[in-house]
Amino acid sequence: MLFLSILFYPIIVIMRDMLNGAKGIMIQLRLVNVMEEIVSGLVRFYLRSPEYQTFCHCEECEMKIIAKALNGLPSYYVTTENDRNKAFDKLKSSSYIEKINKEIVHAIHVAGKRKNHSE
Ligand SMILES: [Zn+2]
Repeated sequence: MLFLSILFYPIIVIMRDMLNGAKGIMIQLRLVNVMEEIVSGLVRFYLRSPEYQTFCHCEECEMKIIAKALNGLPSYYVTTENDRNKAFDKLKSSSYIEKINKEIVHAIHVAGKRKNHSE
């Protein structure tokens, strides 16, 4: 019995380490579209600004505007926090922000015109 437990011990340790390692990777690695994060944040910000007060602020319209804007923009997927930060820095540059803003403003005007629900 002692012999068996000595044999099994390394396997248990290896499996335990593998599981712990997998947990660590899952926390660190996840699939994120940085463009989606930026566009969602900007749309929410714009809809709450005085300039867009006349447009609907409900969740349904907000999501439609985000979806419409994202369909006109390239996706930007990352898997690590480090790459996410790098992507944010890249997308913050003036040429990208101009393109993103243009799509969002267009999406707000198109989606804001459609009233598919009553409030
Ligand atoms: Zn609405």
